Amino acid sequence: MTTSHYIAGRWVEGQGSDCISVSEPALGLPFAELMAASVAQVDQAVAAARDALPTWKKVSASTRAAFLRGFAEQLGQRRAELITLQMRNNGKPRHEAEIDLDDAVATFAYYAELAEQLPSKNRDVPLAAAGFTARTRLEPVGVVGLIVPWNFPLVTSAWKLAPALAAGCTVVLKPSEVTPLIEQTYGQIADALGLPAGVLNIVNGKAETGAALSSHNGLDKLSFTGSNSVGSQVMRSASAQCRPVTLELGGKSAIVVFDDCDPDQAVEWIVAGITWNAGQMCSATSRLLVQDGIADALLPRLQAALEKLRVGNPLTEEVDMGPLTSQAQWLKVASYFATAREEGLQCLAGGQALDREGWFVSPTLYADVPKDSRLWTEEIFGPVLCARRFATEEQAIAEANDSRFGLVATVCSADLERAERVADALEVGHVWINSVQAVFVETSWGGTKGSGIGRELGPWGLSGYQSVKHVTRCLG
Ligand code: NAD
Repeated sequence: MTTSHYIAGRWVEGQGSDCISVSEPALGLPFAELMAASVAQVDQAVAAARDALPTWKKVSASTRAAFLRGFAEQLGQRRAELITLQMRNNGKPRHEAEIDLDDAVATFAYYAELAEQLPSKNRDVPLAAAGFTARTRLEPVGVVGLIVPWNFPLVTSAWKLAPALAAGCTVVLKPSEVTPLIEQTYGQIADALGLPAGVLNIVNGKAETGAALSSHNGLDKLSFTGSNSVGSQVMRSASAQCRPVTLELGGKSAIVVFDDCDPDQAVEWIVAGITWNAGQMCSATSRLLVQDGIADALLPRLQAALEKLRVGNPLTEEVDMGPLTSQAQWLKVASYFATAREEGLQCLAGGQALDREGWFVSPTLYADVPKDSRLWTEEIFGPVLCARRFATEEQAIAEANDSRFGLVATVCSADLERAERVADALEVGHVWINSVQAVFVETSWGGTKGSGIGRELGPWGLSGYQSVKHVTRCLG
């Protein structure tokens, strides 16, 4: 592919030195190549976004909403093609790729509505003091850099693009080098809708391109989703310029199962929480805390359920779980299997890479994992579940909170009062009670502690791209 970067409303060839190879993980083979953007092209993209800002921020809220609805409609029209591309490049099972597409459509539709409501948010502020009036005005933050990872590329980009455009910001998006094709759709849709040139720019590339964007002095804000190590570099670049950042980082989330659960139902939730997207989720519930009274009934059922999962190529087979998305991720997960063997962990299911073409691993369960094990404390980003038993509610809360991350948690209990109490005590950004990975565009997304800064989705996602201005007038 030659013209893979969308800058100032034009498709251009990459002039960087890196060649990006795009692979089909189920086969472990490349199927496309593109040249990365150069640092000069990142400059051009930021300049284009800067040039487009004065006009775009004055465009009426209803016009911005119409563009966002256009994105939702065109994504829907390209449904089949976008689902296949995610199955091919991410290795997602069909039903997961469908849900991602629906999520992206819903995100654009939701922020279209919020964009329309924007004028009513500019309002008078009653003052106790006499002699003055005051009003609030919500303004776009300005030019925003958006850097995203590869695990939910269509969705993660939608979660940033839709609220940023709704708020009146102009953007430069840098997709992951592992999945650079799907986000080109957003540039193609912008073209088809006649979105003013420079409002949305897309530059593809690896770390060099990301660093050129995140350290660019032409940005007003950077919104990053990805690993903690890169997140901290991005934050350092922002701090050099005292510029705001939103960071959506990693997780090592707990699923807490109390004695009063139906073990078969609990197994369904646990399996979904660790095998969806082959466990390559920031929100994977990868630490299972199971109460003593149900553990002996639950663990054998869980082992059987994981071993029964159909793992294979989503394009040619009916599967429950596909491959890992990249060879690097496959090697990383395999290295954790080796660590587990070195640590002498008790493996109840899986624990190995599959002996077949492609980047497959088996769904894995380790039991009675010590609290100081690397597998209990580190984000693995694969279908690897670690389990520990607990006796009391207090112990479960303490163990769940004993993590440097704080993204999500799931609580499973028939006692809803207890479930709500535990949910309130967990130090995370989102808790699911008797459900897993249920994400709605109206609710917030983001973590506490090492899982990040700021929130996406809902009205919070929009306010991340807004700046509050007050105008105070003396009447005297
Ligand atoms: P990553 O940090 O390696 O890469 C993320 C993006 O940053 C990519 O586009 C990459 O090219 C870019 N990048 C790499 N080096 C850079 C640099 N020096 N400066 C600027 N940009 C740079 O992450 P990944 O492997 O793509 O994704 C997996 C990680 O993302 C996991 O840790 C996961 O938990 C996290 N994640 C978090 C959320 C969330 O909402 N909290 C969602 C999805 C993924």
